Amino acid sequence: MKYNIPQIGVIEINTIVLDLNGTLAVRGKIVDGVKERLITLKKLGIKLILFTGDQRGNASDLCNELDIDFKKAVSQKEKEQFFLELDTEHSAAIGNSRIDNGKFRHAKLSIATLQAEGIHTGIIGHVDIIVPTISDALDLFIDSDSLKATMRI
Ligand SMILES: [Mg+2]
Repeated sequence: MKYNIPQIGVIEINTIVLDLNGTLAVRGKIVDGVKERLITLKKLGIKLILFTGDQRGNASDLCNELDIDFKKAVSQKEKEQFFLELDTEHSAAIGNSRIDNGKFRHAKLSIATLQAEGIHTGIIGHVDIIVPTISDALDLFIDSDSLKATMRI
Protein backbone atom coordinates (compact mmCIF):
# COMPACT_ATOMS: atom_id res chain seq x y z
CA MET A 1 0.00 0.00 0.00
CA LYS A 2 1.20 3.48 -0.86
CA TYR A 3 0.46 6.34 1.52
CA ASN A 4 1.06 9.81 0.11
CA ILE A 5 1.89 11.89 3.18
CA PRO A 6 1.61 15.66 2.64
CA GLN A 7 5.01 17.40 2.75
CA ILE A 8 6.72 14.04 3.33
CA GLY A 9 6.06 12.06 0.16
CA VAL A 10 5.01 8.53 -0.59
CA ILE A 11 5.59 5.85 2.02
CA GLU A 12 5.04 2.36 0.64
CA ILE A 13 4.37 -0.35 3.22
CA ASN A 14 4.33 -3.95 2.00
CA THR A 15 5.02 -5.70 5.32
CA ILE A 16 3.91 -5.06 8.89
CA VAL A 17 5.90 -6.77 11.63
CA LEU A 18 3.79 -7.32 14.72
CA ASP A 19 4.41 -8.19 18.35
CA LEU A 20 2.24 -10.52 20.43
CA ASN A 21 2.11 -9.78 24.18
CA GLY A 22 0.84 -6.30 24.92
CA THR A 23 0.20 -5.75 21.20
CA LEU A 24 -1.98 -8.30 19.37
CA ALA A 25 -2.80 -9.96 22.69
CA VAL A 26 -3.44 -8.53 26.13
CA ARG A 27 -2.98 -10.86 29.10
CA GLY A 28 -2.71 -13.82 26.75
CA LYS A 29 -5.86 -13.21 24.72
CA ILE A 30 -6.19 -11.78 21.20
CA VAL A 31 -7.75 -8.31 21.37
CA ASP A 32 -11.28 -8.07 19.92
CA GLY A 33 -11.32 -6.81 16.35
CA VAL A 34 -7.75 -7.85 15.52
CA LYS A 35 -8.59 -10.90 13.44
CA GLU A 36 -10.93 -8.99 11.12
CA ARG A 37 -8.42 -6.19 10.63
CA LEU A 38 -5.62 -8.61 9.79
CA ILE A 39 -7.85 -10.18 7.12
CA THR A 40 -8.54 -6.70 5.69
CA LEU A 41 -4.83 -5.85 5.61
CA LYS A 42 -4.02 -9.10 3.81
CA LYS A 43 -6.66 -8.26 1.22
CA LEU A 44 -4.93 -4.89 0.71
CA GLY A 45 -1.79 -6.85 -0.19
CA ILE A 46 0.12 -6.26 3.04
CA LYS A 47 2.22 -9.14 4.38
CA LEU A 48 1.94 -9.74 8.12
CA ILE A 49 4.70 -11.28 10.24
CA LEU A 50 4.96 -11.64 13.99
CA PHE A 51 8.16 -11.70 16.03
CA THR A 52 7.60 -12.65 19.65
CA GLY A 53 9.52 -13.47 22.78
CA ASP A 54 6.56 -15.84 23.46
CA GLN A 55 6.48 -14.93 27.15
CA ARG A 56 3.32 -17.01 27.73
CA GLY A 57 4.26 -19.96 25.49
CA ASN A 58 1.04 -19.65 23.48
CA ALA A 59 2.34 -17.96 20.32
CA SER A 60 1.83 -21.04 18.16
CA ASP A 61 -1.83 -21.38 19.17
CA LEU A 62 -2.61 -17.67 18.81
CA CYS A 63 -0.88 -17.40 15.43
CA ASN A 64 -2.79 -20.43 14.17
CA GLU A 65 -5.98 -18.69 15.30
CA LEU A 66 -4.94 -15.54 13.39
CA ASP A 67 -3.47 -17.43 10.40
CA ILE A 68 -0.16 -15.52 10.47
CA ASP A 69 3.43 -16.69 10.54
CA PHE A 70 5.63 -16.03 13.55
CA LYS A 71 9.27 -16.21 14.50
CA LYS A 72 10.38 -16.64 18.08
CA ALA A 73 12.82 -13.85 18.94
CA VAL A 74 13.87 -13.83 22.58
CA SER A 75 15.86 -10.58 22.60
CA GLN A 76 15.99 -7.12 21.08
CA LYS A 77 19.02 -8.32 19.09
CA GLU A 78 17.11 -11.26 17.62
CA LYS A 79 14.16 -9.08 16.65
CA GLU A 80 16.65 -6.73 14.99
CA GLN A 81 18.36 -9.55 13.08
CA PHE A 82 15.03 -10.91 11.81
CA PHE A 83 13.83 -7.43 10.88
CA LEU A 84 16.99 -6.66 8.92
CA GLU A 85 16.30 -9.72 6.73
CA LEU A 86 13.21 -7.86 5.43
CA ASP A 87 12.84 -5.00 2.95
CA THR A 88 13.11 -2.42 5.77
CA GLU A 89 12.38 0.56 3.50
CA HIS A 90 8.90 -0.86 2.93
CA SER A 91 8.26 -2.39 6.36
CA ALA A 92 6.38 -1.04 9.36
CA ALA A 93 6.61 -2.22 12.96
CA ILE A 94 4.00 -2.34 15.71
CA GLY A 95 4.77 -3.20 19.33
CA ASN A 96 4.82 -2.08 22.95
CA SER A 97 7.91 -3.53 24.59
CA ARG A 98 11.57 -2.71 24.99
CA ILE A 99 12.38 -5.81 22.94
CA ASP A 100 10.59 -4.15 19.98
CA ASN A 101 13.27 -1.48 19.69
CA GLY A 102 15.14 -4.07 17.59
CA LYS A 103 12.62 -3.46 14.82
CA PHE A 104 11.51 0.10 15.62
CA ARG A 105 15.04 1.39 14.92
CA HIS A 106 14.96 0.16 11.33
CA ALA A 107 11.29 0.34 10.32
CA LYS A 108 10.04 2.91 7.83
CA LEU A 109 7.13 3.54 10.18
CA SER A 110 6.92 2.50 13.84
CA ILE A 111 3.80 2.44 15.99
CA ALA A 112 3.43 1.76 19.72
CA THR A 113 0.19 0.42 21.22
CA LEU A 114 -0.61 1.72 24.68
CA GLN A 115 -2.88 -1.00 26.04
CA ALA A 116 -3.34 -2.61 29.46
CA GLU A 117 0.18 -4.12 29.47
CA GLY A 118 1.67 -0.65 28.92
CA ILE A 119 4.64 0.50 26.90
CA HIS A 120 8.24 0.71 28.03
CA THR A 121 9.41 4.34 28.17
CA GLY A 122 12.57 3.34 26.32
CA ILE A 123 10.62 2.89 23.09
CA ILE A 124 9.16 6.39 22.94
CA GLY A 125 12.16 7.90 21.15
CA HIS A 126 12.06 5.15 18.51
CA VAL A 127 8.41 5.26 17.40
CA ASP A 128 6.59 7.64 15.05
CA ILE A 129 3.09 7.22 16.50
CA ILE A 130 1.59 6.05 19.81
CA VAL A 131 -2.04 4.86 19.75
CA PRO A 132 -4.36 3.55 22.49
CA THR A 133 -5.01 0.10 21.00
CA ILE A 134 -3.85 -2.41 18.40
CA SER A 135 -7.09 -1.82 16.49
CA ASP A 136 -6.16 1.86 16.20
CA ALA A 137 -2.68 0.92 14.98
CA LEU A 138 -4.02 -1.42 12.29
CA ASP A 139 -6.69 1.10 11.25
CA LEU A 140 -3.96 3.62 10.40
CA PHE A 141 -2.98 1.33 7.50
CA ILE A 142 -6.59 0.70 6.46
CA ASP A 143 -7.89 4.31 6.66
CA SER A 144 -5.01 6.12 5.01
CA ASP A 145 -6.45 9.57 5.77
CA SER A 146 -5.82 8.93 9.47
CA LEU A 147 -2.19 8.03 8.80
CA LYS A 148 -1.75 11.10 6.59
CA ALA A 149 -3.30 13.40 9.18
CA THR A 150 -1.01 12.13 11.94
CA MET A 151 2.18 12.02 9.86
CA ARG A 152 1.91 15.25 7.83
CA ILE A 153 4.14 18.18 8.69
MG1 LIG B 1 5.09 -6.85 23.72
